[in-house]
Amino acid sequence: MFNRREFLHSGTATVLGGLGAINIPSLFPEAELNKAENALAGSNRMKLSFKPFTLELKHAFGVSVNTRTTTPIVHTVIEYGKYKGYGEASMPPYLGESQETVMKFLAKVDLSKYDNPFQLETILAEVDALEAGNTAAKAAVDIALHDLVGKLIGQPLYNMWGFDKSKTTYTSFTIGIDTPEVVRQKVKEVVDDFGVLKIKLGRDNDKEMIETVRSLTDKPLTADANQGWKDKQYALDMAHYMKEKGFLYIEQPMHKDMVDEHAWLTERSPLPILGDESMKRLSDLIKYRGAYSGIVLKLMKTTGLREAHKMIAVARAFGMKVMIGCMTETSCAITAAAHLTPMVDWADLDGAMLSKNDNFKGMTVNKGKIILPDRPGIGVVPV
Ligand code: MG
Repeated sequence: MFNRREFLHSGTATVLGGLGAINIPSLFPEAELNKAENALAGSNRMKLSFKPFTLELKHAFGVSVNTRTTTPIVHTVIEYGKYKGYGEASMPPYLGESQETVMKFLAKVDLSKYDNPFQLETILAEVDALEAGNTAAKAAVDIALHDLVGKLIGQPLYNMWGFDKSKTTYTSFTIGIDTPEVVRQKVKEVVDDFGVLKIKLGRDNDKEMIETVRSLTDKPLTADANQGWKDKQYALDMAHYMKEKGFLYIEQPMHKDMVDEHAWLTERSPLPILGDESMKRLSDLIKYRGAYSGIVLKLMKTTGLREAHKMIAVARAFGMKVMIGCMTETSCAITAAAHLTPMVDWADLDGAMLSKNDNFKGMTVNKGKIILPDRPGIGVVPV
């Protein structure tokens, strides 16, 4: 007679035996065994906990609407047996969520009622249905759950989704709006480490920002006006000027409600026009189809990885470009997003690098190229 552990071992070995020469990390059999034991025991329930954190930025960060030095964060942990999945919500104030709203929402999320953590579609749909909005709070659950499930089966997220980790994109590094002296200093600090620089535009010094950066590097540039431009003809003139200056795309030139103006611009612009503030979730992609040539995905808008993954498929079906960006976040949420980069055209995942108290270790960058960790789940470690 087998005891229970031997029985599980023999079952696992048979399954793995069928996989032949496929290189499965050694963690897999043990994780499988524990998962099976957990399921048999029937006593493990998922438990969600969360705590606030303030991310401090290295430089005051200026975009078209404001300048700030910190970003409020809420970290989540989903425990299941001996496993812990990590997640995060990041709330730049202008988006309407705060540590208070996120924690209030998370207090309503009862994961203990689900006995199977693998049922992400059901669990996340029910979390989404709890209340409208709260997209960063929902992302904090989604990220932690994907991390947990990856750990339960002992595989990194890129493997679970069938992505080739060698195909990650390069990330740009963002230069906020500032005086020419400060911009020059910021560019000099990072220009050798990144292949692409992203410039924030949309105040009254667009050409000064562009000329300042261009005088220091001939690398490709990208731009984000953060809805700062008021006029479609100005946006089109800028697009032609920026095409000459070696830009790759422009994010959200005008206010998100200026749908017809964006459609007019997209039809004529020599550069791709990406929707960011206007393109939050899957439903927006359908709603604004034709107004933009591409989308900017951010986990804090999409409610996390699951919906972002679906949005990539739909955007591709519409023939649209896909960029994945971030808020100022720790390496926890940034690394989660990085797992999607083998499927996108461009990435701007510098949020953790802009901070000085990042409390997670995860993805790294080598001359701008995103390097994913090999650990199971999203692969992050608290520090
Ligand atoms: Mg943007």
